[in-house]
Amino acid sequence: DLQIDHVTKAFGDTQVLKGISLDIADGEFVSLVGPSGCGKSTLLRIIAGLEGQTSGAIRINGQDVSGIRAADRNLSMVFQSYALYPHLTVAENISVPLKMRQLSASQRLPVIGPFIPGARNRNVEIAAAVKHAAQTLEIDNLLDRKPGQLSGGQRQRVALGRALVREPAAFLLDEPLSNLDAKLRVQTRAEIAELHRRLGATFVYVTHDQVEAMTMSSRIAVMMGGEILQCDAPDEVYNNPLDIRVAEFIGSPK
Ligand code: ATP
Ligand code: MG
Repeated sequence: DLQIDHVTKAFGDTQVLKGISLDIADGEFVSLVGPSGCGKSTLLRIIAGLEGQTSGAIRINGQDVSGIRAADRNLSMVFQSYALYPHLTVAENISVPLKMRQLSASQRLPVIGPFIPGARNRNVEIAAAVKHAAQTLEIDNLLDRKPGQLSGGQRQRVALGRALVREPAAFLLDEPLSNLDAKLRVQTRAEIAELHRRLGATFVYVTHDQVEAMTMSSRIAVMMGGEILQCDAPDEVYNNPLDIRVAEFIGSPK
């Protein structure tokens, strides 16, 4: 499981997260919703290890991961902005996490000149993993293109491919569909849901879109002012809001 245990975060004098606790079971799809600035991205970045918390702990299967750097956590994050490397091809973009992992593994070995044992086999493995991820997302015909030659939806799939190739225990997605038009959003939403069913991985999904949260999630966490006000099944959040602020937020059309 993924356990967020009394996590706080302050930027200078500003307390952005005020003690977030949430236990996410393996294979769950939890959507994180809440007004702009409430701390959703900050929380995801802390889970991913891209940002340190001020206090509290993140535990994965009971292990405190505070000392483990982002590349070595068994998690993949997808950003709203895709964050692709413009000068690399699609195939190279997707392979980046595996190359990073290879690098960090080889750095732990005693260095014997420039030779890394098994590197050649490893490159074959990486190419196969990239192909597989690309086939899953139906972008295997785009592997030689650069991001500038792709549509928004295709770029989004490359970003998902890069997340997928690590075969992570959990995906952290920060408004991955917000740059897509309505039609592509519905289509990609269905693909993410299908991916979740097929992989059985844990998903933490930040969205502004209440229909997305409603249709995709096992639970919805409503966040406001650095706190989680309620985290329940979608029906429960809609029918039995625990707090007037939850009712007002969920009830308002965006
Ligand atoms: P949005 O829905 O607009 O993406 P969010 O819920 O993701 O909002 P965060 O990006 O987590 O919100 O930001 C939460 C608060 O923390 C905001 O007030 C923001 O200005 C502040 N904040 C985020 N990062 C930093 C930083 N590096 N330094 C100072 N303040 C920050
Ligand atoms: Mg955000």
